[in-house]
Amino acid sequence: MHHVPCLIDGRDVETTGVFDDVDPSTGERLATVARGGADEVDAAVGAAREAFARTRRRGPEWRSGVMSTLADLIRRDGERLAELECRDVGKPLGQARNDVAVTARYFDYYAGVLHALHGETIPQPGGSVAWTTREPFGVTGHVTPWNYPLQMTARTLAPSLAAGNCAVLKPAEDTPLTALAIARLALEAGFEPGMVNVVNGFGHEAGAALSAHPGVGHLSFTGSRPVGTLIAKAAADNVVPVVLELGGKSPNLVFADADLDLAVPKIVTAITQNAGQTCSAGSRVLVHRSIHDELVRRVAEAFEAMRIGPAMGDPDLGAIINAKQRDQIHEKVAAATSGARLVTGGEIPTGGDLDRGFYYRPTLFDQVDPASPIGQQEAFGPVLAVTAFDTDDEALALANGTEYGLVAAVWTRDLTRAHRMAQDLVAGQVFVNTYGAAGGIELPFGGWKGSGYGREKGFEGMLGYTQTKTVAIGL
Ligand code: NAD
Repeated sequence: MHHVPCLIDGRDVETTGVFDDVDPSTGERLATVARGGADEVDAAVGAAREAFARTRRRGPEWRSGVMSTLADLIRRDGERLAELECRDVGKPLGQARNDVAVTARYFDYYAGVLHALHGETIPQPGGSVAWTTREPFGVTGHVTPWNYPLQMTARTLAPSLAAGNCAVLKPAEDTPLTALAIARLALEAGFEPGMVNVVNGFGHEAGAALSAHPGVGHLSFTGSRPVGTLIAKAAADNVVPVVLELGGKSPNLVFADADLDLAVPKIVTAITQNAGQTCSAGSRVLVHRSIHDELVRRVAEAFEAMRIGPAMGDPDLGAIINAKQRDQIHEKVAAATSGARLVTGGEIPTGGDLDRGFYYRPTLFDQVDPASPIGQQEAFGPVLAVTAFDTDDEALALANGTEYGLVAAVWTRDLTRAHRMAQDLVAGQVFVNTYGAAGGIELPFGGWKGSGYGREKGFEGMLGYTQTKTVAIGL
């Protein structure tokens, strides 16, 4: 049994209240968690501000070295971290191992590129010199979700630290184990106490307190749209920038000339990885009518062959994070069965281990009305909605016809069509003949429209954790 305290100024901090963290694979208690609130947030922001004042003149070489050491420590403890993530999220062990590798890569990547963080000299008319510098905000606040706790911690923490900030993390209450583990490894790597703080607790308590705290200079949030708008309003009250990453209803567009041997496995992975609980999940397939029947048959076969089970057994499909999320998936599926054709799935699997945890069978809907709820809204589970199209223009209109714009993928052998689609798709990332949901940490990632704003990943992700200062000297 684990216990998960807060970590403030380099020390474990206990709270008066605690709550349970449940293993979704078994329904059993995995850990007790400190229930941090406004007081702990205040202490953590204070510690981060003091750490920032102490460390702000450290050069890039120091920050880069410590971040590289942290990447090494994450790899050293890889198996332990993978098991924590696997049990906490209910995600298959192999996927958790991959998340550990990606997490280490974030710290390696930003340890390298932070050396290229510099300003410009800008010629001025008439006897003056001017230049810009890229400065940190001071304290950054990070409110992260339960679907990829390690990756979401690294995706926001690594660029923030690389840019010279100090951080306060508020991990999701369902999955507090690995953010604390990373913060402890950061201390071991050489980050000073207070540079990385963790306040565990509920969103409406610790999360709300962090997003409203006047000592925070920048906020990043990944999660649901209603909470994202709350955080944006709190940020507006304090006039601080916020990055919002809010999910999507991302389409795979499969044209008549697509290589189905290539496309089908990626389409299946895009909606079943992490049991479909991925912001960039490929939850819609728009397919040309001439290959529609074959595609539906192949995807259905793949869904039915999937092994579902407890995450430590490394099944194809692990658990859903909690009973509430599983039930909301099932409600959306039940509502969709009257308007669309249920090809396979649509039920909560039972028997053996499956009776103890929270699971959902991969579910395929065909003949989905694009305007219906299952064609428009996230189920945030392994639920795929297929709609046939006849023309390229129709495919494009369907793809762009939701409130979201996170990612989109195009499957075609026609170079002109691929370029035209890449130009006209309304999405933050477009893939052609691949679906790159999890990789590509070097590539800017983020939403258009209702999927959010601001960019994570890549060099641009780090720039978001800086503000420009302009200096001009009259000669
Ligand atoms: P959520 O948005 O409620 O939680 C995400 C994070 O925000 C958690 O750390 C939570 O504690 C925090 N939070 C909650 N209320 C808050 C508040 N008032 N102020 C500040 N922080 C707050 O997401 P959820 O309830 O865990 O999941 C519900 C839905 O969110 C899912 O069905 C899915 O659609 C979406 N979601 C999206 C992503 C993504 O990657 N985009 C990830 C997880 C969940």
